[in-house]
Amino acid sequence: MLIIGLTGGIGSGKSTVARHFETLGVPVIDADDIGRQLVEPGQPTLATIIKHFGSNMLDDKGRLNRARLREQVFRHPKQRRDLEAILHPRIRAEIQRRIANLSPVCGYCLISVPLLIESGWQDLVQRVLVVDAPRETQIRRTTARDGITRRQAEAIITSQVERDTRLQAADDVIHNDGDLAALQAQVEALHQRYRQLAERQR
Ligand code: ATP
Repeated sequence: MLIIGLTGGIGSGKSTVARHFETLGVPVIDADDIGRQLVEPGQPTLATIIKHFGSNMLDDKGRLNRARLREQVFRHPKQRRDLEAILHPRIRAEIQRRIANLSPVCGYCLISVPLLIESGWQDLVQRVLVVDAPRETQIRRTTARDGITRRQAEAIITSQVERDTRLQAADDVIHNDGDLAALQAQVEALHQRYRQLAERQR
């Protein structure tokens, strides 16, 4: 199975790209979804996080207060590393489990990992596909979508790997600085290419 790692900075358009690949019948394994599922009530990972960070990270319904935790680890790099040490091995293991369960009929699959480069997870994939957008576009999209301030968007972008570093790690790049039709056309061209590559790999 050919495995493509999909990544990009905040608001670059990864989810939009992933959804379009899915409409073309490509299986997408989403690291963020896995991360969310791991911390649902009753999951052992949630208990581990609460043991480490305290029960004030739960809301009144016993669900993880993700915003509070995010804010806390954003301010304390050591705590961010602790959280990653809890989550990352579990997310990786689940990604590998899901890859192993995919039908070979699919030819290729995408793994969407926002922090693929930052986490050094390129070993999970055979090609890296970067969705790239200019910084101003990232800020405009995230402030419009998430209702965060420009400063918050800038802080998140700064905490992520530099655009050039990400682009250097890319085998393929989708330039998402145009409209949705332009984005979809690039996805469709890559889909043809990945199908050919997967066929050759059989
Ligand atoms: P995050 O890292 O925050 O999860 P993302 O990289 O997955 O973000 P998306 O959620 O796909 O990015 O896109 C961010 C926002 O920008 C969404 O509201 C999406 O609909 C919009 N968007 C993405 N690409 C385009 C485009 N080419 N034209 C117009 N809107 C777009």
